[in-house]
Amino acid sequence: MTEIIDIKGNKHEIECMACAIQGGKISLPIERIAETENFVLEQDLEWPIEGLITIVSKRHIVSVDEFTDSEMEELAKFIKVARIALRKMLGISALTLVQEENTTTSHFHLWLFPWHDWMKEKWNGKLYEIKDIMKYAKQKFSGKESLEKIKQCATKLREEI
Ligand SMILES: [Zn+2]
Repeated sequence: MTEIIDIKGNKHEIECMACAIQGGKISLPIERIAETENFVLEQDLEWPIEGLITIVSKRHIVSVDEFTDSEMEELAKFIKVARIALRKMLGISALTLVQEENTTTSHFHLWLFPWHDWMKEKWNGKLYEIKDIMKYAKQKFSGKESLEKIKQCATKLREEI
């Protein structure tokens, strides 16, 4: 069991976040952006950053080496479609992709981390800075106004993907 606080400030006690969401036990703070047969694409529910999206497997697995060839192909195409949408709809010129297998409370999930101009003022666009930016965002952007902006970005992406 783990406890998370989502971007709306709601607390959830969960065993597997992805199963809880996909099984309808907890609702997403921001409606799902897109899905394919084997993957969902959602605004990250924990970190309040516009366009920070995750692609999550529907199956309860954590590593790419558990994917079938067709799932792998589906994922690659989904990443491309998402990347195009982030550039076209939100003007994201640089992304960092992060996938960690060190998780017992969710499925395979790939973060598409967008580098916004406000980040570039303080940071240099490097992987090791992401943790600090996430913490910074959680402190600065936890209000209603930020949530509304994140929602608008998700809507734009939904129209495109
Ligand atoms: Zn699961």
